Amino acid sequence: MNRIIITLLATAVSVLSMAQSTLLRQRVSDLNFYQLPYQYTALEPAIDALTVEIHYSKHHKAYFDKFFKQASDLKLTDKSLKEIFEKVSEYPTGIRNNGGGYYNHVLYWEILKPGNRKGLSPTLNKVIVEEFGSVDNLIAQMNDAALKRFGSGWAWLVLDDNGKLKIGSTPNQDNPLMDVSDFKGIPLIGIDVWEHAYYLKYQNKRAEYVNSIWSLINWEVVSQLYDEAVKKQ
Ligand code: MN
Repeated sequence: MNRIIITLLATAVSVLSMAQSTLLRQRVSDLNFYQLPYQYTALEPAIDALTVEIHYSKHHKAYFDKFFKQASDLKLTDKSLKEIFEKVSEYPTGIRNNGGGYYNHVLYWEILKPGNRKGLSPTLNKVIVEEFGSVDNLIAQMNDAALKRFGSGWAWLVLDDNGKLKIGSTPNQDNPLMDVSDFKGIPLIGIDVWEHAYYLKYQNKRAEYVNSIWSLINWEVVSQLYDEAVKKQ
């Protein structure tokens, strides 16, 4: 009886569609394409429905399909994404680009998921204030990282090996879990700054897109990712 209640409570408090640790540790052979847990219109007006539809059903799906095929051809399907990222320099570039493309977008959709936008946990809030002074300062630094990333890539908030929050960016579909990345840590927020993420609505105005995305960030999800990341330290 107690176990049933505990299970129900655990389900109720989980705001992530899929724990990142589960996604990263599953064997590739057990992966299915991520199910977007909301409608294409759910991120409007900051991100328009057509952008979400193309981004998810074309770009994200293509990364998954190509990664799955290449991982199968190379007999990597017994490995997890985590294992592959940690040694990604040893594999063909397609694994790096498409595996990164698959994982990065799952994180992106999860942290934009409609829900508790004011749900920043007291724990994470305290750490942000200690390390950045305020949430506004963190946002300003992330925006700066997003704007300074030349060409296509991602801006990140991560928990690093020393248990500190860090802000940085990576090119293309690289991420901070990859051995090839100069910027490392466990991702908590990933902002896609490829033009396909914003061009239909914002054209060349990356700054407007990046500014507007903060109205969508689900801080309850980010707080849960932080709790998961701390446990892995
Ligand atoms: Mn993208």
